[in-house]
Amino acid sequence: ACFCKLQGEVDDCSCKVESLDSLNNNKIYPRLKSLMTNNYFKYFKVNLKKRCPFWTDDSRCAMKDCHVNVCEPDSVPFADKKENKQEPENKYSKEAQNGNHANCEEERELGALDTSLSDESKKKFREWKAYDDSLDMFCEIDDEHSADVQYVDLLKNPERYTGYKGASPRRIWRSVYEENCFKPAKPVAYGPRDDKLSNDCLQGMCLEKRTFYRLISGLHTSINIHLCDQYLFPSINAFGPPEWGPNVKEFKKRFDPETSDGQGPQRLKNLYFAYLVELRALAKAAPYLEQEEFFTGTFGHDDEVRLAVHDFLQVVREFPEHFDESKLFQGNSAQTKKLKIEFRDHFRNISRIMDCVGCDKCKLWGKLQVLGMGTALKILFSGSSMGLASTVSADFKADFQLTRTEIVALFNAFGRLSSSIYALENFRALMR
Ligand code: FAD
Repeated sequence: ACFCKLQGEVDDCSCKVESLDSLNNNKIYPRLKSLMTNNYFKYFKVNLKKRCPFWTDDSRCAMKDCHVNVCEPDSVPFADKKENKQEPENKYSKEAQNGNHANCEEERELGALDTSLSDESKKKFREWKAYDDSLDMFCEIDDEHSADVQYVDLLKNPERYTGYKGASPRRIWRSVYEENCFKPAKPVAYGPRDDKLSNDCLQGMCLEKRTFYRLISGLHTSINIHLCDQYLFPSINAFGPPEWGPNVKEFKKRFDPETSDGQGPQRLKNLYFAYLVELRALAKAAPYLEQEEFFTGTFGHDDEVRLAVHDFLQVVREFPEHFDESKLFQGNSAQTKKLKIEFRDHFRNISRIMDCVGCDKCKLWGKLQVLGMGTALKILFSGSSMGLASTVSADFKADFQLTRTEIVALFNAFGRLSSSIYALENFRALMR
């Protein structure tokens, strides 16, 4: 059996890797692949020019394959038509605007206050409201109204090998793991090399901290699988174009236990863990997403997207072995609350580290995937309702609200994890 043919349960979940392989490769991946080509999902709004808040020597990579082609605003079908005409506050999706809108509530609350309140007091009120809203955010979100925010067509800028390696990505990953992953409760005997980043650091950690580590490690695995799966080979003859394709040698170097300090298979398993968490978030958000408008800016196209999303969500909801987020942050003690805040703040910090990535293409996908994962966490841990809402009722009220950018990031981030699991099947076939 290949080292990349994993078996048994995903850690801390009662779900078998084999059933995820089957669900993903037969049902989820084909649906998502098609869904992600839609206008709604393929344009991602992002600020790639934000300065790194942690160090100043973040030199930009000049490599050709790190370049991102941004869209001319005219070429994005829905930009400047509807979305940009909305008031800045109307940033939430349709469901949020229908009776569940944060700003309507704000107006109501303000109206209920003494009308003689000074502008200064109202400003303070709004600041506190914005602060309260941000409490459930696991990511630092790009300011959608900044002049540096641009649309990127994700299909024209695929995640693949860029040649970004060496000190810069090492510093990013090191910073992500060492500074932001929780430290183990007991000191662990580290080996001589990069082993602080290894799964050994899970010893003595509680479920929440293990979850955090596995999510980050699963994301790292997914990024590295993509660069192996879409590797750049020089052309066979001097004048031909270079070719993209799977690089089995690179894949083995990273994940074969013989060449990855024995950590490879565990890192692959963390990919399945991250997948299960995002799958569960999609299932929980399904009633909310079913009410979404999915405005594409192309006549007659929104219905198609809504139908395709509905079909996809049916599959997601029918899968019975979900990650159980209710096991995390149990109880109402001060310690649990502190842990939840720490968890959120660490994740938020990771979203800020993404602005330090030195290769624009890697930064684009890094930011998107961290935002997608952060959105999944927001869905899972916002408010009090922890159950899976099975029906979409007219009075359904979510504990969270999502912006268009968060929805796009959530679907695409899950799409990346899904495509990584699919790629594993291909690597298994190539190695056979
Ligand atoms: P790295 O992947 O840099 O890993 C550093 C160390 O972390 C390893 O030595 C190991 O000890 C540990 N480690 C590795 N994997 C895991 C894991 N899954 N879980 C826990 N620990 C682990 N390159 C591209 O070609 N295309 C991209 O699109 C791309 N996107 C990137 C996005 C981000 C946000 C970052 C930070 C980097 C990206 N890279 C990309 C670079 C890529 O991830 C590697 O950093 C690079 O290929 C160098 O690999 P490496 O062998 O030095 O190990």
